[in-house]
Amino acid sequence: MGYLKNLKCRECGREYPLEPIYVCEFCFGPLEVMYDYNKIKNVLTKEVITNRVKSLWRYRELLPIEGEPQVGLESGFTPLIRADNLAKELKVKNLYIKDDTVVHPTLSFKDRVVSVALTKAKEFGFDTVACASTGNLAHSVSAHGAKAGLRRFVFIPATLEPSKIVASLVYEPNVVAVDGNYDDVNRLCTEIANKYRWAFVNINIRPFYAEGSKTQGFEIIEQLGWRAPDNVVVPCASGSLLTKIWKAFKEFKEIGLIGELNTKMFAAQAFGCNPITTAIKAGTDIIKPVKPNTIAKSLAIGNPADGYYATVAIKESGGWGEDVTDLEIIEGIKLLAKTEGIFSETAGGVAIAVTKKLIEQGKIGRDELTVVCITGNGLKTQEALSGHTKQVYYIKPNLISFEDVLKKEIS
Ligand SMILES: *Cc1c(COP(=O)(O)O)cnc(C)c1O
Repeated sequence: MGYLKNLKCRECGREYPLEPIYVCEFCFGPLEVMYDYNKIKNVLTKEVITNRVKSLWRYRELLPIEGEPQVGLESGFTPLIRADNLAKELKVKNLYIKDDTVVHPTLSFKDRVVSVALTKAKEFGFDTVACASTGNLAHSVSAHGAKAGLRRFVFIPATLEPSKIVASLVYEPNVVAVDGNYDDVNRLCTEIANKYRWAFVNINIRPFYAEGSKTQGFEIIEQLGWRAPDNVVVPCASGSLLTKIWKAFKEFKEIGLIGELNTKMFAAQAFGCNPITTAIKAGTDIIKPVKPNTIAKSLAIGNPADGYYATVAIKESGGWGEDVTDLEIIEGIKLLAKTEGIFSETAGGVAIAVTKKLIEQGKIGRDELTVVCITGNGLKTQEALSGHTKQVYYIKPNLISFEDVLKKEIS
């Protein structure tokens, strides 16, 4: 095919061959995959894309694989839902939810990055795949790696929600629970990746892995009828998803699939782990690491690998960032559920609560078209809602008992 050029250092611009490497030997900058957009422009038309299977692979020329897709053939092309009930509640006119709680085999957007990463790991000839995870990535590597016949190691913080641990264990990977937070897990995994020839999806093959997130951006544009929205609100952990949605929009402009690009990118974080939004509010691109303390465990990265690049994308696009408390996160989850019938995990609560705040602040205009990225399914983090839901009515199996409750307790 030949749509890929090379890897390139994001800092000094030095070029490298397409190998399982991730950091510049000279300046330690992160490496990024480069494409031949002139070639892609000639083959990847709207017609070609729309005639393909509805999965993330319909944009394959803009993904960093050389052969056929091998892993995660069903991932992607999740619904873009017009959220009129929620819009009314938030007093805006044009609101959409990009709903990554469904369709994906493991019910989070991480199936996008893992489908690409494991296809690439197979191309490179790895027999063992691994990851440092805040939860969802472990599910995805465990499941897709099982189907692909790969040996799997997933490393997680030991304090993860019990239901999130079971949701990895069921696929029988090697689950390693580390006594520490995500940043400790990541540091350990970098050491392990230096010693063992394993494909750590978010370490040594991160340049390829991260490209998978672009598909969320491609889908938003296609599903809006080939135009970019005015605003996108993205929950941020490492900051990679936000950076890659922005890259996706710019690529579609570059190859002529959209004309105008006037989108503002907004970062959403929890108050208990807000290194990216803190930097944005302070008007700096220097990320000061924090010690995470929030119920939004899937976003609990205190030292975000792509935090700097997220602030650059936000600044370039004219966007902003906000953070919300744990209680606001729970209210966000409940608001989305009761208005749109979508059950999101804590990260989605962060995105909804931040959107509400940005609208109230006037940073998101009431007539503008806004897309909120809901990235993971709420069945994975039910613990977060315990004590915060409506009560259950317990009755005897007879009509009198029901009507008793109906009269006294239900208004
Ligand atoms: C990993 C994750 C994110 C953010 O990912 P980054 O690319 O690291 O910023 C958002 N939402 C959910 C549910 C996640 O699991």
